Amino acid sequence: MLDLNQDIQYIKGVGPNRVKLLNKLGIFTLEDLITYYPRQYEDRSKPKKIAELVDGEEALIEATAVSKIAEIRTRRKNMTMYKLIVADQTDRCTLVWYNQSYLKTIFKYGNKYKFYGKVSKKTGQTQIVSPVYDNFEKNKNTGKIIPLYPLTYKLSQNTIRQIIENGLEIVDNKLEESMPQYILEKQKLISLNEATYKIHFPNNFEEFKKARERLVFEELLTMQLLLLSLKNQTTNSKQGIKFSKDAKMSDIINNLPFKLTKAQLRVLEEIDTDMESPKIMNRLLQGDVGSGKTIVSIIAAYKAVKSGYQMTIMAPTSILATQHFESYKQILEPLGIKCELLIGSTTKKNKERILEELKNGKIDVLIGTHAILEDNVEFANLGLVVTDEQHRFGVRQRSVIASKGKNPDVLVMTATPIPRTLALILYGDLDISIIDELPPNRKKIDTFAVTKSMEQRVNNFIQKQIEEGRQAYIVCPLVEENEEMKLKSVLEVAEQYKEKIFPQFKVEYIHGKMRPKEKDEIMEQFKKGKIDILISTTVIEVGVNVPNASIMVIEDAQRFGLAALHQLRGRVGRGEYQSYCILKYQGTSDVVRERMKVMTQSTDGFVISEKDLELRGSGDFFGTKQHGIPDFKIANLFEDMKILKQVQVIANEIIEEDPKLMNEKNKKLKKIIDEKLKQRIEI
Ligand code: ADP
Ligand code: MG
Repeated sequence: MLDLNQDIQYIKGVGPNRVKLLNKLGIFTLEDLITYYPRQYEDRSKPKKIAELVDGEEALIEATAVSKIAEIRTRRKNMTMYKLIVADQTDRCTLVWYNQSYLKTIFKYGNKYKFYGKVSKKTGQTQIVSPVYDNFEKNKNTGKIIPLYPLTYKLSQNTIRQIIENGLEIVDNKLEESMPQYILEKQKLISLNEATYKIHFPNNFEEFKKARERLVFEELLTMQLLLLSLKNQTTNSKQGIKFSKDAKMSDIINNLPFKLTKAQLRVLEEIDTDMESPKIMNRLLQGDVGSGKTIVSIIAAYKAVKSGYQMTIMAPTSILATQHFESYKQILEPLGIKCELLIGSTTKKNKERILEELKNGKIDVLIGTHAILEDNVEFANLGLVVTDEQHRFGVRQRSVIASKGKNPDVLVMTATPIPRTLALILYGDLDISIIDELPPNRKKIDTFAVTKSMEQRVNNFIQKQIEEGRQAYIVCPLVEENEEMKLKSVLEVAEQYKEKIFPQFKVEYIHGKMRPKEKDEIMEQFKKGKIDILISTTVIEVGVNVPNASIMVIEDAQRFGLAALHQLRGRVGRGEYQSYCILKYQGTSDVVRERMKVMTQSTDGFVISEKDLELRGSGDFFGTKQHGIPDFKIANLFEDMKILKQVQVIANEIIEEDPKLMNEKNKKLKKIIDEKLKQRIEI
C-alpha cells in the first residue's frame, strides 16, 4: 500500500543533506513533497530560429555545434568561461557558461542539441548565457513545460524537480481518490492521480489548467463544506431563543434623533426575523466604518432586553468598548435599560459589583473587552451576543462567549470590507447582512497622494488646520527603525515632529508595544483635545471616534494594503469638519501608483477591497493573517473566483440534501471534513 506519510529520506536522490533543505521548505513526507506545487511554468517546448530571437527573451533553440568548446580564463580570479558556437539554418549563436569544466566532454562538434536560456543581443551577436540543454532527441530539461518551484533554498530547480519526479514514481498513480465520483463527473474534473502528476509535469497548458482546476476545486469545496457543517452544527442541532414579537424595534427606531438609512432598516429586518425565530442567529453584519453598525446593535439589544434577556457586546480594545458604552448608555438608559462596562482597568470593587449584578440579572447590557470571556463572568439570562471585530475573531472565541448563555443569538460586526463571494468563505459559518450605504451628509474625505518633495507643503497644511483648532493623526508602519528598508519608525518620526517641525504644538505618540493603560491614557487625552498631533502605528485602526480630528497623514503609504489604508482613513471625517487624508508614498512602480490612485478616487470600501485583491492577489490580501483565513495550498481567491462561485452553489446543494454527510455517495467528503475538524479546531 502507498504510504503518503513516509519520510522523504526514503525517496531516491534524497540524502541527509537534502533532507535538511527539504525540511526547511516544509517538506517532511511524501505527501508534502507531491503537494509542493509549482509557482509557475516555463514553456520550453516550442523551438525558435536563431535569427528570430529577441533580446531579453527566454527561448528554446535547436542547433548544431559548429565549434569545439573553448575554455577561456577571465581576468576575474577563479572564473573560467566556456564558450560554444552553434548554428541552425538561419544564424549562429554563442553559448556561454562559467566554471563548468565538465561541459568540455559533453558537446561534440557537428552534433545537434537543444538549448534553453535567456537571449542577449547587446553585443551585436546573439548570445545565451548558461543555457540548459539536451541532446536533440532527449526531453529532460527542454522540449516540455518545466515547473518552477516557489522556494528552493540551496536546492536547484533541477534538483527539486528531479526529487518530485522520483516521489511521483513511488506514488505511481496509487493515490486514493478523494472526491466522490458523482462530483467528478458533474464538474468534469480529472482524477486526483492525474491532477497530481500533471500539476507538476503537464505536457501543455491545457493539461496544467485541468490539473489546477481539479485541485483548486477540491481545496475550496472542502473549506466551504467545513464552514457549512460548522454552521449547521451550531444553528440546527439546538433550539435557540424566540424573542418576543411584542418587543418592537420600531419603538426605539421612532425615537432616534436621526432617520436610519435604508440599508440599516434592511439589516434590522433580517436581524428581527432571526431573533423571533427559534433558530439560533449566527449573523455577520458587515458595513464600512461609520455606516452605523453600532446603532443597529443597540436596537437589537433593546429587543433582547425587552424580551426579558441580557445582552453583551465585546470589542477588541478598551477604547472602543468605552466608546460603545457611551453610545449604548445614551440611547438605552433613558428607556430604563441598565448598561455596565467591564474592561481590564475596571477596579476590583466595581468589578465585583458588576459580576454580582450580572448574575442576579440587575444589569441588562454588559459592554466590554476580552475581560468578558473570563470564567467568573456569569449571566442570569444571556440572550444576545454581539462581537465588534476589528478583524476576525476565531470561531472558538465566539463560542466561548456564547456558552455563557443558553444558545443565545450571535451577531458579528465587522468593518472589513470583503467582496461578498469571499465573505462566504471567510465567514461561511454565518449568514450575512450588509450595510452598503453611509448616513446622509457625510463629508467626503479629500485624499491626496504625495511624494517627498511635497513634505513642506503638507506640514504647512497641517499647521493651518491645527491653528484652526483641529487635530491630526500621523501613522507610521513600524515601531522600530528598520535601516534596510528605510522605514520611518514612530519614535523617530515623533522626535522629528516634536522637536523640529511642530515645537509649538503638543505632539504625542502611541504604538502597539506600549502597555494598554498608557495607550488608553494617551487616546483619552487626544479625545479631550489635549494633544494636537498623535503619531501612531496602526493601533488607531480600530474604530476610535475623535470628531475633531480632521487630518490623517500616512507615512510610507505604499507599505499598507488598500483595505488597511481605507480603515485608517475612516478615523477622520467623523465630525462636522471637512477632513483630509494625505498618503505619503515612495516608489515609482505602476502598482504603487495605481494603488494610490484607487485611494484618491474611491471612498467605497467594497470597491477598494476588490481592487486590493486584484492588485495584490489573495496571497498578500489574506497572507496578513488579519482575516484569519487558513492558507490555501493552491487556490487563489481572486483568480479562482469563478471556481469559488461554482463551489458555493454545489456546497449548498450537498449540505441541503445531506446536512450531516451521511449518504454513501458523500462518504469521501465526510472523511476529509472530519479530518479537518480534528486538525483545526480554531478556524
Ligand atoms: P460604525 O460602527 O459602522 O463604524 P457608527 O455606528 O459608529 O458606525 O456610526 C457612526 C456615526 O454615525 C455615529 O455617530 C452614529 O450616531 C451616526 N449615525 C448612525 N446611523 C446614522 C444615520 N442613519 N443617520 C445619521 N447618523 C447616523
Ligand atoms: Mg463601529
